[in-house]
Amino acid sequence: MSSVADVIGPADPKASESGEVSVIADFAADTLVPHANRIDQRGIRRPHLDELAATGALGLPFPTALGGSDAGPGIVREATELIAGACGTTWFCAAQHRTPTKAVLGTDNVLLHDRWAARMVSGKAIAAIAFAHLRRPTQRFWIRDEGDQFLLNGSLDWVTNWPLADVVLIEGYRMSSSGEQRDEIISLLVEPPKLDLVHSNQMDRDDLQAGPSLSLAAMGGTQTWPVSFADFRVSGEQLVSRVPATEWHHANSLIAADANPASFGMARASINELTELAATTNQPTVAEAAASLRSELLDLRARAYADADLASADPQMAAATVVERTALRAAALDLNLRAATALVAASGGGAMMLSSNAQRRAREALFLLVQGQTADLRQASLGYLTD
Ligand SMILES: Cc1cc2nc3c(=O)[nH]c(=O)nc-3n(C[C@H](O)[C@H](O)[C@H](O)COP(=O)(O)OP(=O)(O)OC[C@H]3O[C@@H](n4cnc5c(N)ncnc54)[C@H](O)[C@@H]3O)c2cc1C
Repeated sequence: MSSVADVIGPADPKASESGEVSVIADFAADTLVPHANRIDQRGIRRPHLDELAATGALGLPFPTALGGSDAGPGIVREATELIAGACGTTWFCAAQHRTPTKAVLGTDNVLLHDRWAARMVSGKAIAAIAFAHLRRPTQRFWIRDEGDQFLLNGSLDWVTNWPLADVVLIEGYRMSSSGEQRDEIISLLVEPPKLDLVHSNQMDRDDLQAGPSLSLAAMGGTQTWPVSFADFRVSGEQLVSRVPATEWHHANSLIAADANPASFGMARASINELTELAATTNQPTVAEAAASLRSELLDLRARAYADADLASADPQMAAATVVERTALRAAALDLNLRAATALVAASGGGAMMLSSNAQRRAREALFLLVQGQTADLRQASLGYLTD
């Protein structure tokens, strides 16, 4: 057996003492790990997300007054690492919930806030989000303001959780009567029409086409659906915010620069499994590889979280460190890829079985290269692959 000292634990040692983390760690070990490969292949269902929500994981960073835990970054990161390391599909579906919840907590629309805030913080209502298209050079989705309602037109390529969610935060550029505008971004909280996945895997209406779930090389179990709209009407009461596009892009670039704790969680799980494999099969070269990857992760993770903390405390610092933080994010993605690949190499042919964690983690690591990808991140990642 590997010694306890060889097992990578939380970045913040105090996170181990947290009751919230302990509940999530048990859930990850008892429920997520045993089912991760099956969920990856067969797809996630709503009861699984409800079980996760019951651990308090979805409300961790949000106010206790609304049913959250007011947990600090150390606890939130550790929970993310544990969930992502146990089951990438569950992590990605749960991750979609965070930004819509923040948006509803921050909206000036009091009625919308009062209707959804507590339900979203507790995870009784599950959210999805569609916003990555806003970073693309060309747009195929627009929102038109008609006074007391909004009209949605065009298509969204990727909406994870669509058939599982109670609400979807849909963000789009404003289209005016004089044509397409790129000056303002409108965010709406849309309630997707209910669908029973047992009987149907798509929706075909005149104003809305959704599904079926995309066939994907990785994250195929995340219920990621393409969705198209043709004059789809959304009441003005569903408005979350309207912000100048430059403001949206600036804020988004500050957040997108940071390494995602999920990448460290996945790499940590691969390296811990590698360490265990080295001990149980008595392979010193595998132990050496695990030790080298472990020290790389500990160093990189400490730097990435320290920089993220400084950036979140000071917007000027955040803007000044985008390049450095993007470089750390790319380094974390590269490490995750190498850690998963090392686990494949050390596992032999068995790694190719769909029941093996190694092949799933390798595919999940590839996915992370494009998830939330910015132009700068793409450049930094390509730098690692061509050095
Ligand atoms: C399985 C899966 C699930 C997903 N789920 C969601 C979801 O639920 N919600 C959601 O909003 N998104 C989702 N996404 C989208 C995901 O986050 C994006 O794939 C990611 O941000 C990359 O964007 P893209 O696919 O639009 O690629 P691209 O269009 O290639 O854009 C990626 C980046 O490259 C830049 N870029 C592209 N072309 C050029 C060019 N010619 N010159 C300079 N820069 C360029 C873009 O500006 C952008 O920053 C999902 C993706 C996948 C694969």
